[in-house]
Amino acid sequence: MTASGMKASASETTEVVLEADGLTKHFPVRKRGREVFSKVSRVVRAVDDVSLTLRRGRVTALVGESGSGKSTVARLLAQLYDRTAGDIKLHGESVSVKSGKRFRAYSRRVQMIFQDPFASLNPVHTVRYHLTRALKIHDRAGKTKEDLEKALEALLTRVQLTPPERYIDKFPHELSGGQRQRVAIARALGADPEALLADEPVSMLDVSIRLGVLNLLRDLKERLNLAILYITHDIASARYFADETIVMYAGRIVEGGDSETVTQRPAHPYTQLLIDSAPDPDQIAAHSASEKDRGTGEPPSLINPPAGCRFHPRCPHVMDRCRTELPPRFEIGDGPGHFAACWLYADGQATSESSGTGPGSSDGRARSGEHA
Ligand code: SF4
Repeated sequence: MTASGMKASASETTEVVLEADGLTKHFPVRKRGREVFSKVSRVVRAVDDVSLTLRRGRVTALVGESGSGKSTVARLLAQLYDRTAGDIKLHGESVSVKSGKRFRAYSRRVQMIFQDPFASLNPVHTVRYHLTRALKIHDRAGKTKEDLEKALEALLTRVQLTPPERYIDKFPHELSGGQRQRVAIARALGADPEALLADEPVSMLDVSIRLGVLNLLRDLKERLNLAILYITHDIASARYFADETIVMYAGRIVEGGDSETVTQRPAHPYTQLLIDSAPDPDQIAAHSASEKDRGTGEPPSLINPPAGCRFHPRCPHVMDRCRTELPPRFEIGDGPGHFAACWLYADGQATSESSGTGPGSSDGRARSGEHA
């Protein structure tokens, strides 16, 4: 996920596990009424041209509002959806699987954790059933009953549900939300994966237990050297938990870089808006934009997204070219791999702080004189 000419970040020296290149997903819209007789088919442009890289022992946060396409990206990477265009590479090899043995072999290496742990566990089965099934599907149950018991114990211990005998025969409804999510994580670990795709893994949990589950994921990243994609609408947690942060808006990536830089010196006006909307922005960015520079409005329809930059109807820095030309990624130059898809950085020199006039600057005005 490196724009040309961009500085190599420290993370780029670690092994690439999973890559998306130009990932695109358009969902057909079902025709209704008179549309049935029309030859024109409409699509929801849920994901357009998304490229990212997951590396061993690193957490990459994919941040955006509801409907920005981030969960669709996770499902595409898990090969739960067919893609409209683009490529997915596992250790450099293109992979496209739908079902059967090849899908199982892929999901052994790339596992997904869902937002709602209660919905993802079958309420009529115990923890033992869920974990045993995962171990057997992925040939990790061993040959004897003792092997299986040891493997079950190890899984529960790894997700800090100890002593294991206290949890192994419980049903999902007998566990707290945090414990259920730990069981869901243990089930994913039953495959011994290399990459974990965690789709809003703490957003349905009580605030008091979110940190414990994030700390568990961080511990797994370090101990098991996992590549983790952390999908969230909470940019503050991305700074705490992720090594790199990528921001999505209306199906496209608009900014990325190391988490510290993206959250402390946001370059794209949309990232700025996300940070200013966070419950405690003082915790994640020194800068706070004024009301007028923050941007307003709602995300656009993805059936007829705005031409040019999709953020332009909400952007306080909009220029004429923003309405017609799609901005490519521009290097910002103030942090490892920091880029923004925004015409404010078209000359390749400005950064949100150093120019003193970017969206992250104190006066919040755009660099160019083409303001609307
Ligand atoms: Fe998009 Fe233009 Fe605003 Fe940048 S300045 S976010 S390109 S509308």
